[in-house]
This record gives sequence, C-alpha cells and structure tokens, in this order.
Amino acid sequence: MKTSFLCSRVFPMDEARFYPTKVFVTKDSENLLLTRKVLENTRHLPVEFIADSRELIEDVLLSRDPVGEGKKLLLVTHQRGEYVKPCPCTPQYIGCNYFIINTELNCPLDCSYCILQLYMNNPLITIHANTSQLYTQLDDFLKKNRNRPFRIGTGELGDSLALDHLTGRSSELISYFAEHPNVLFELKTKTVNIQNVLAHKPPGNIVIAWSLNSAKIAGEEEMGAPPVHDRVQAAHLVSQAGYRVGFHFDPLIYYEGWEDGYGEVIENMLAQIDRKKIAWISLGSLRFPPALKPVILKRFPQTKIIYDEFIPGKDGKLRYPKTLRLRLFQRIVKDLEKAGGGKIPVYLCMESRDIWMDAQKKAPRGKREVEKLLTLPLGANENDF
Ligand code: SF4
Repeated sequence: MKTSFLCSRVFPMDEARFYPTKVFVTKDSENLLLTRKVLENTRHLPVEFIADSRELIEDVLLSRDPVGEGKKLLLVTHQRGEYVKPCPCTPQYIGCNYFIINTELNCPLDCSYCILQLYMNNPLITIHANTSQLYTQLDDFLKKNRNRPFRIGTGELGDSLALDHLTGRSSELISYFAEHPNVLFELKTKTVNIQNVLAHKPPGNIVIAWSLNSAKIAGEEEMGAPPVHDRVQAAHLVSQAGYRVGFHFDPLIYYEGWEDGYGEVIENMLAQIDRKKIAWISLGSLRFPPALKPVILKRFPQTKIIYDEFIPGKDGKLRYPKTLRLRLFQRIVKDLEKAGGGKIPVYLCMESRDIWMDAQKKAPRGKREVEKLLTLPLGANENDF
C-alpha cells in the first residue's frame, strides 16, 4: 500500500516497534480472535499459556525493578473491570468531561515521570482481548449519551498506538466510531506507529493526537519514545491523509532554556501541520503524587526534574508553584498565537479557574463548557464558550 510504503521509508518501523521477550496468555483468552491475532504477530517469540496471571504478576513484583521487568513481558488476558470510564480528573480542578477506554494496560515506553509506575497491581504490558465485552459496554454507553457531542479515547493507562502493530486495535476502533458521529474519538500516542491508521479511510470524527515535549526533555526523560520531530512528522502524514490531529504539551517541565525548547517545537509543529486540521492542544504542567518521587529517584537517578520547588495541590499532587505554572502556560499560549495558532482550542489539564483565567484571559465555568469548546468540530456553537 502506498501510504504504508511511504511511512516505512520515513520511519524505521521495525526497529522502533515493541516486541516483548515472552508472551503469556491466560487460558480463558486462548481462543479469542484478538489473542490469535497477537499470537500471529508474535509468532517468533516464546509463548506460555497460563491458568491464572496472579503468580506471574507476583514473580515480576518480586524482581528488583518490577516496572522495568513488566515492560519486557506481554500478557494477553480478559478485562475484568469496566472498559469505559470517566477520566479521573480531580474534582477540585476544571475537567474536560473526557471518557476513557481501557483497552491496554501499561506501556513499553519508559518516561521518567510516568504515573503508571505507581500502578503496581499488574506491571506487565497487558492486552485485554475480550473485545465483545468492550463493544457491548461501548454500545450501552453510547446509547445513553447519543444526544450530545462528547470526547472519548484510549491512551490513559498506556499509549494508544504502541501495541497497534500487534493488535490492529486502531482500525477496529476507528471503524466503530465512524458509525457514531456525535463522538470525537481520540488515539493518543508518542509513537510513529501509524501504518494501520494511514491504511484506513479517515472519518471526520477521529483525532490522532501526539504528546509533545521539548527535544531536550523528550531525549532525557522519555526513554524509548521517538524524537519529537518524528512525532510531528507522523502527525503531518496523518493530517495529510485527512485526519484531524491533536497535541498534548504535557507535562511541561521547567529547566533553564525551556522557553526556546518549547518555542522550537511549536514553530515546527505549526510549520508542518495545517492549523485547520488541529482539533485541540492541551497544556499540563508536571504534577505527580508524592509517592512517585522515590520511584523516579530509584528508576531514573540521573533525572533532574524532581528537584524543583513543588507544592501540594488541592488533590494532593505536587505541582510547580502557581507563578511558575502561569509562566509556562502564558508563554506557550503566546508562542502558539505568534506562530499563527491563535484560533486553535487550547485547554489546561487539571487546573483551577483562576489559572485558566490568568493564562488565557478566559475561563470555562465547568467541564461541560470545556467539552463544548473541544467538540466544536462536531458542530457545537462557538458562542456557547
Ligand atoms: S508514553 Fe505515556 S504511558 Fe507510556 S511511559 Fe510515557 S507517560 Fe507512561
């Protein structure tokens, strides 16, 4: 296929793609369609069928670096809980009424600041293969919410595309949501694993989004992720193919020279991407629960990101002081305006109304207003915001 050929010439796909050292399949998932697809795509790797994943998980938890060990192993199993949930934004801050789909758990990339390092119930890269339950739950959820535009996406407990060459999940989900035009469906990634996306005809309500950072932070803190200019180039290819794209500058991290670092990425992004194709840009400053600090220290002793001043927010998470957060947000908003991106919807992730007001000179009254702003591409009224 022409697009895939172009894509594999632009990015060295096979080198960059994740393959585990071993695949484990729980017996209850052995005969599922998605399991068979994953096994076909990992046929060169050792496989073990297990009755129960608990012993395996315990063994990994006993290793010296459970997070790092878990990232080498792939578990294919059932999703026992709910697939569809509201995004767990802290009630004390303005949310965006986003809904998440938990198709995969954990991520082969290794960002120093990743909050998933704290989710130690299961550190293995996990694919939930019982897709019929996923679509039953999605059908129920969408039936209840069919009269309003809203946003939903994967990528909360992992990267939306990092396992896509094993699962083909993006194609299935894009086809499913193409039939639900009141939903903006987002796939959020740091990878360039876009071949399945490019092979698909782009429906107007699908957003492929990239997490971006400055080249310095990406190089030092986002292990295993492609360089930022490759991510922007992937976004360019996807937008040229007809998709809407989104960008998440999250977490914004303070360091000497951050102004130039982030400015360059914004300039490059807006030079390559038609701004009419950009559905939204989110901004979030570095924040983490105090319990993550010792984990970062142990796993990434060379990092400097935890040595700045942090203060506990209303949700208990540590954040930069308000003045510094504002400086970060105001500068990024200004750079976006300067580079011609002034009309692109920008929202702040997990911030209070006064920070919104100071950063953008306007603030939503609540999450429903943010939702309206971000579903403008579906025809919501701009004056509602
Ligand atoms: S890409 Fe996202 S999910 Fe993966 S390690 Fe980085 S922060 Fe965590």
